[in-house]
Amino acid sequence: MADYDYDVLVIGAGPGGYVAAIRAAQLGLKTACAEGRETLGGTCLNVGCIPSKAMLHASEYYEAAAGGAMAAMGIKVKPELDLPTMQGQRKDAVKGLTGGIEFLFKKNKIDWLKGYAQFTSADTVEVAGKAVRAKNIIIATGSSVTPLPGVEVDNDKQIIVDSTGALELAKVPEHMVVIGGGVIGLELGSVWRRLGAKVTCVEFLDQILPGMDGDVRKEANKIFKKQGVEFKLKTKVTKAEVKGKKAVLTLEPAAGGDAETLEADVVLVSIGRRPNTDGLALDKAGLTVNARGQIETDHDFRTTVPGIWAIGDVVPGPMLAHKAEDEGIACAENIAGQTGIVNHDVIPSVVYTMPEIAGVGLTEEQAKERGEVKVGKFPMMANSRAKTNHEPDGFVKVIADAKTDRVLGVWVIASVAGTMIAQAAQAMEFGATSEDIAYTCHAHPTHSEAIKEAAMAVTGKPIHI
Ligand code: FAD
Ligand code: NAD
Repeated sequence: MADYDYDVLVIGAGPGGYVAAIRAAQLGLKTACAEGRETLGGTCLNVGCIPSKAMLHASEYYEAAAGGAMAAMGIKVKPELDLPTMQGQRKDAVKGLTGGIEFLFKKNKIDWLKGYAQFTSADTVEVAGKAVRAKNIIIATGSSVTPLPGVEVDNDKQIIVDSTGALELAKVPEHMVVIGGGVIGLELGSVWRRLGAKVTCVEFLDQILPGMDGDVRKEANKIFKKQGVEFKLKTKVTKAEVKGKKAVLTLEPAAGGDAETLEADVVLVSIGRRPNTDGLALDKAGLTVNARGQIETDHDFRTTVPGIWAIGDVVPGPMLAHKAEDEGIACAENIAGQTGIVNHDVIPSVVYTMPEIAGVGLTEEQAKERGEVKVGKFPMMANSRAKTNHEPDGFVKVIADAKTDRVLGVWVIASVAGTMIAQAAQAMEFGATSEDIAYTCHAHPTHSEAIKEAAMAVTGKPIHI
């Protein structure tokens, strides 16, 4: 250690990096974390998970009041939108949580090196003009918005924006066009639709939410349509021009054909994210990236260069905060000589719309490619709590191996699907069968009883349908 400044230097203080730094410090390693942003917490806390959920939560209340859901329960209100206050509580949430990470860094004696790090060799980086040498370096630089050629984002103008700009809008657009029917498009599209915007979603593929279970994608599309979102599937945007206070988009069928134009007050570009490696000078460390721009690692999060590790959005796998966090913990434990493991087969994903959409494990399509499966489905309409709460949309689907009954995947569309999916992930982590779930006592009346009933349906014996 004599000639090293640190045992561990983490580059990037997002959920991957800050968690890795805290675990490394907890394990007695001298730790620093380089972060160029003014606040810690990365994309997730500053411009991602947290501020988007703050706006989703507030807009959900607004819609419940304005759209009649409360009136159905005997509560008559005429809400008035105070957007600056709604935006204010979003900023407060971010401030509180990013400040919380700063507190945790101090508590764990982690040095925050303020600035962007750049490799000068395999064990040294330069941050804010200062060379820092570390025995282990963890790259946790995350990701940023994938640009769309011909559609130039300018968040300041508030006409063509990315997710960061879409969180900051100063007024509710009359017409918002969302490019990309993925997680960001549907979540942020939902926020502004609830607050009064007409939302059109342009998706290149033949269905929204690629990567999710086929039934779930179809049902989600139906639900969003019912909520008023207009979809243009199998369509691509090839150009966007700002004319005065509007944007004029050129749309073409994905397979080619006649172009059409579409006018919007705000255009949200949400076609995916790409890993952040520009500016790291990876070549000075002897590192390369793969065809998708990601840094490859082995199962322990080691890169091809000894002493350099990588985690989170910058490595392959789903771009999710909890995946980054778990990798951060495992990576720090491996550096400390422990056995840190992440089971990449059991990583839940959640879309925080209303209803929420969640899944873990294989889709039915993927499971069928591997062998014979049994599937149990249970509609939320038949779940007493969902029905009583006026939340009838959605279903639970349990996919099990036909021979062993082992659960391979669980998919949920329900108002609280994001909370429900944790039980499925835990069951799968313990290697549960559908019978194990079916014979687990679930509290009544809860939405989670639908998971039990779907598990019972795998062998054909649900009670309430
Ligand atoms: P990041 O959080 O991107 O953090 C990387 C950090 O590294 C950044 O702060 C960056 O400034 C810093 N950095 C980059 N280069 C350098 C350098 N050279 N030197 C120093 N610092 C550097 N995921 C979920 O699981 N749930 C959600 O609800 C969710 N909602 C989202 C909503 C939106 C709008 C967006 C955009 C994303 C959302 N995500 C969500 C995804 C989630 O934010 C990411 O998966 C997660 O933040 C990745 O963590 P990370 O630590 O790998 O990287
Ligand atoms: P995404 O990959 O979820 O969706 C992008 C969509 O855009 C896809 O459906 C894709 O087919 C479509 N698309 C691509 N090019 C297009 C084009 N030219 N025209 C029209 N459609 C096009 O990406 P995202 O929504 O930008 O989100 C980025 C990442 O952030 C995701 O990987 C996600 O994991 C993460 N995120 C997660 C959450 C969550 O967990 N709740 C929320 C927000 C973001």
